[in-house]
Amino acid sequence: MTPGRRSAKSFGIILYLYLDSRQEVRVDADVIVVGAGLAGLVAAAEVAEAGRRVLLLDQEPEQSLGGQAWWSFGGLFFVDSPEQRRLRVRDSVDLAWRDWLGTAGFDRPEDEWPRRWARAYVEWAAGEKRAWLASMGHSVIPVVGWAERGGHFASGVGNSVPRFHVTWGTGPGVVEPFERRVRAAAETGRVQFRFRHRVDALTVTNGAVDGVSGTVLEESDVPRGAPSSRTTAGEFAFRAQAVIVTSGGIGGDHGLVREAWPERLGTPPGVMLCGVPAHVDGRMIGITERAGGTVINRDRMWHYVEGIENWNPVWPLHGIRILPGPSSLWLDATGKRLPPPLYPGSDTLGTLECLRRTGYDHSWFILTKKIIAKEFALSGSEQNPDLTGRDRKAMLASRFGGAVPGPVQAFLDHGEDFVTAPDVARLVAAMNELTGSEPALDAAAVEQEIVARDADTTRPFGKDFQANAIKRARAYLGDRLARVARPHALLDPAAGPLIAVRLRVLTRKTLGGLHTDLSSRVLSEGGEPVPGLYAAGEAAGFGGGGMHGYRSLEGTFLGGCLFSGRVAGRAVAASL
Ligand SMILES: Cc1cc2nc3c(=O)[nH]c(=O)nc-3n(C[C@H](O)[C@H](O)[C@H](O)COP(=O)(O)OP(=O)(O)OC[C@H]3O[C@@H](n4cnc5c(N)ncnc54)[C@H](O)[C@@H]3O)c2cc1C
Repeated sequence: MTPGRRSAKSFGIILYLYLDSRQEVRVDADVIVVGAGLAGLVAAAEVAEAGRRVLLLDQEPEQSLGGQAWWSFGGLFFVDSPEQRRLRVRDSVDLAWRDWLGTAGFDRPEDEWPRRWARAYVEWAAGEKRAWLASMGHSVIPVVGWAERGGHFASGVGNSVPRFHVTWGTGPGVVEPFERRVRAAAETGRVQFRFRHRVDALTVTNGAVDGVSGTVLEESDVPRGAPSSRTTAGEFAFRAQAVIVTSGGIGGDHGLVREAWPERLGTPPGVMLCGVPAHVDGRMIGITERAGGTVINRDRMWHYVEGIENWNPVWPLHGIRILPGPSSLWLDATGKRLPPPLYPGSDTLGTLECLRRTGYDHSWFILTKKIIAKEFALSGSEQNPDLTGRDRKAMLASRFGGAVPGPVQAFLDHGEDFVTAPDVARLVAAMNELTGSEPALDAAAVEQEIVARDADTTRPFGKDFQANAIKRARAYLGDRLARVARPHALLDPAAGPLIAVRLRVLTRKTLGGLHTDLSSRVLSEGGEPVPGLYAAGEAAGFGGGGMHGYRSLEGTFLGGCLFSGRVAGRAVAASL
């Protein structure tokens, strides 16, 4: 069937939608947004509020609206915020930019746009970001977290100061304002949703992207985040003046992760846990390339080394990331302590690189009940019911009460990666049982390491840099109150029992992506914008095709989706 036209001037391009071969539905839209995650919601809201008509497509059912962001911890990178100042943290754009550059390690000619995105983002994080979110009812908890603490040089990897602001309401609290804006626009007809619509191709006419085509998937009532059926129920084709790709990264397809895995990180682990739902399949990135877009920095990725298998999984191989405080003793699979400054929470990618050289897929935290009670936070909205449910009383009890928080206790009770014992010999025996002694740990050697660490930690002076790092962390009020246990001997029975946690690599974020300019226009191989084609969020490396460079300061992924989604939405609306 050939699409017809009906007062195109006043309504924009007329689209023909083939829900199946028998039924034809006409839809007016100016812009198609592919992917109703955070970046897609932000872009759609901006386009619609600028008076344009949006068609928002997602392959998943409506109950998964918001994508990964809904599952997220809601941690956001702000610079020089009132929360930081209240905790006597002195921050500035200059310091944040130095930290960003030291962490990103931009070193390629194609890093030009990513670097410009990074600079624009840091300035936004120090400026309008917080007020813009607050104007929509967003708020953060008063204690600012200190993620990626670094530990190499002042000019190197990591945050010099705490900058991780956790949303009151976690991930759902980040999604909420944008879902509200988009649903309000849907009420007025400016936004139309099409769930279970999987885009398989972009339409290109005379070199310009002017539509999408794909498969209508059968209805699905799976719970949010669970894999949905891929059974086909029909086909569709839509046309519009511009398409914004906000389809997320590749972390849910371990085949793609392995293909892109860089040599500098060794070989990919034989088994990886999955930190994202299965819909984070990366397919749409290849589809966008076939329409003329370019992907850069494909080899840059951000996976966590503190992954534990979810005892109550929502998606296949569902892993949870521990957001650790600095006190656990970190041993590789053979029982060797990780070198400085690879302490928990210091340098994610440096630790991954180090662990991939051991020849094993797992490593170990050894800690006490006292440490787990204060220092283990689990990433994910469902792992933080107090914050997600905005329950102040539960938050105070769970974060400051001194007991092991409920979700962490659930892992101690049911998680297959956790073992506890009253002494080292029995702990190591349980660790060996868990891994089938592959490799076998020597209890005497582990005990020797712990005894030396304990002696150093409990002396007023010492040479163990982890002990120094813990003391420095406790100089920050937020950490002393809520995140870092008072230094103590791991073998102190009053702090016990001893706990060992097997850690595995968990795939999460895609740092490279579709190459975009500062208007979110996707660039061709030759560096020219592909007419009609825009990208934002994780699919675009959070801006530019990789604004993080090699590594991230954390809390910058949601922020990158907010920023690039907003830029894309505004740029497209202005261009029509
Ligand atoms: C557990 C967890 C905790 C996290 N915590 C934090 C945190 O504290 N701070 C932080 O900054 N970041 C965090 N992140 C990362 C952050 O949530 C994501 O990077 C971000 O939400 C990605 O958003 P997006 O819109 O780019 O992509 P997505 O959320 O992946 O959304 C993309 C959407 O596109 C759809 N789609 C894909 N392909 C197609 C297609 N071909 N056709 C139609 N639809 C398609 C998908 O179904 C999906 O709904 C966390 C992530 C997880 C999973």
